[in-house]
Amino acid sequence: MTLVRLIYTSTVADNLNAESVEAILATAKINNAKQNVTGILYFSNRYFLQCLEGERDTVNHLYNTIINDVRHLNIVILEYREIDQRDFYDWTMGYIPHSNATKPLTLKYFATNNFNPYQATGASAYLLLLDLKKSLLSI
Ligand code: FAD
Repeated sequence: MTLVRLIYTSTVADNLNAESVEAILATAKINNAKQNVTGILYFSNRYFLQCLEGERDTVNHLYNTIINDVRHLNIVILEYREIDQRDFYDWTMGYIPHSNATKPLTLKYFATNNFNPYQATGASAYLLLLDLKKSLLSI
């Protein structure tokens, strides 16, 4: 059983609203708990940045489901790698919306404070998600 981490980014579909994000999260939490998938979903500036951790076949299958979801588009994998341990092991899908608390992190990892995850490297996307987890835990 090989453990992997997949990080991708996407752009929200035009008709998506806060309630739709809540619906996505509710489904994600139920499904992920059943298949031991953990991770984090960041939502900012009309972009999603998500990390999925779990058994390789499970994560691959879930990613194939997610890329067919009409609620987002322009899906791009930023990182895919085998890992020795999970970073979000206690989150079936932690959700972090953009806020004043998360705002300074954009400038830490990007050339400007305009969040655009399509310009992130796999490493910077990963480090940003770790920082977001820390910021949430410190609130
Ligand atoms: P179904 O529920 O049968 O849905 C099939 C398709 O119908 C969906 O792909 C979607 O295009 C559409 N659809 C479903 N519900 C709605 C709705 N309320 N409004 C509009 N269209 C809808 N799922 C997980 O299990 N784990 C995750 O971590 C996860 N993360 C996600 C992150 C993002 C950014 C997005 C957009 C979706 C995520 N999903 C996640 C949801 C995933 O894409 C599937 O919808 C879900 O896994 C259910 O799969 P299903 O085959 O049963 O789809």
